[in-house]
Amino acid sequence: MNPTIAFVTLGCAKNSVDSEKAMGALVSDGFSLTQDPASADVVIINTCGFIESAREESIDEILQIAELKKTGSLRSLIVGGCLAVRYRDELEAELPEVDRFLGLLDPVEIRAVCRETAAQLTGHADSGGVEIPGRAEVLLDIPRVLTTPGHFAYLKIAEGCSNACSFCAIPLIRGVSVSVEPDDLITESAALGRAGVKELILIAQDTTLYGRDLKGGSGGITTDIAGLLRRLDSELEGIEWIRLMYAYPSRVTDDLLDVMASSSRIVSYLDLPVQSGSDSVLEAMRRGMGRSATLELFHKVRDRVPGITLRTSLIVGFPGESERDFLETLDLITEVRFERLGVFTWSPEEGTPSFELDGRVPEEEMERRAAEVLSVQRNIMLEINGSLTGEMVEVMVDELLDDLPPFSWLGRTRGDAPEVDQGIYLEGPGGDAPQPELKPGDIVHAEVVGHIDFDLEGVIAGD
Ligand code: SF4
Repeated sequence: MNPTIAFVTLGCAKNSVDSEKAMGALVSDGFSLTQDPASADVVIINTCGFIESAREESIDEILQIAELKKTGSLRSLIVGGCLAVRYRDELEAELPEVDRFLGLLDPVEIRAVCRETAAQLTGHADSGGVEIPGRAEVLLDIPRVLTTPGHFAYLKIAEGCSNACSFCAIPLIRGVSVSVEPDDLITESAALGRAGVKELILIAQDTTLYGRDLKGGSGGITTDIAGLLRRLDSELEGIEWIRLMYAYPSRVTDDLLDVMASSSRIVSYLDLPVQSGSDSVLEAMRRGMGRSATLELFHKVRDRVPGITLRTSLIVGFPGESERDFLETLDLITEVRFERLGVFTWSPEEGTPSFELDGRVPEEEMERRAAEVLSVQRNIMLEINGSLTGEMVEVMVDELLDDLPPFSWLGRTRGDAPEVDQGIYLEGPGGDAPQPELKPGDIVHAEVVGHIDFDLEGVIAGD
């Protein structure tokens, strides 16, 4: 009998999609999965390794799971993903408790490795004779095992990144940007729609790089992110919302903004990491766009896509970032008033150009700057939330609540991406109106009646 396998996935949504495809390939090959590593014969850890804190978390997880060899049913520990790609030799030397190291999780390779492992563990010769399907079949025809709740799913449209931001190790780990063929993405998305997915979230390291490496458009449509969005919008059934994450400022085109503004299914939401508000820091980061062009872009985006929700990410404490540079970053977020924002402190990454730069900012000062960004952003978000009172919003239900009266559901507006943004607590229509029977993925209209910190409160419209 095939061994039972558990996956532990760390890091970003791109890693989750890799695990989901690998799990799908194993299930279709007769392996059974468990969510509990303690009851698995084989555990596959999909690691993250792009900054120090992520590496520590991955190592801790490996050591913790390895303990199950002594206490649990664990017989084989397999480690893959970004940490394993970046530090293979060191890990092999330092972690003898790991039976096998892999690169980024690939469904074809995972299937072959698990067959071999099964043969070793059961003493039965690997069936080897049976032809392992080609990459295309595995990716397209075999359903992913979703790790997200079934009503939303990520669509990974490309692997790697061809940008060269001086602080980032991802191109060293995942290589240059390689787009998935649009026809394959349509096939994959359609299968997700048939499986009940209502929200499709497009991800890559840089989604706006999409298609630049593809030879000629398939189906005659220019293959870039705007073209892909148009095809998804016109060809998919069952999917209610399409969301775009990880865009790159200098690659936001008018055509992209037009397709967002003209579609009701593509939510007016754009995740556009700016990283800094200072020209000298942006130049040292090799972001390819300065402060005034960045500001111009945000004003244009707000003009071309009215009501858009803008998310951004910032890095504070980049080597050489002066107090004046930092104040320019604060000034930029005060001017743009992002609805959603994340901030990170610079992480010294070996092999990246910024690792060699002088003028490192002390850890304490980096933390102070990050806290100041969050404090400024907090006031902006509370003001924005306050201004929404009385507005009608469209909400996708994420979960049912039975212990938080008067709220019966938690959901998100079109302006909230899952797992990173805020939510809206919903109570049913007032008065004698019948209470709706809602499930995750259902879409309702609600009046915003207030907010609890960053989360909104809403009452479902009676109609
Ligand atoms: S866009 Fe820049 S920060 Fe993002 S993955 Fe690519 S190189 Fe890294």
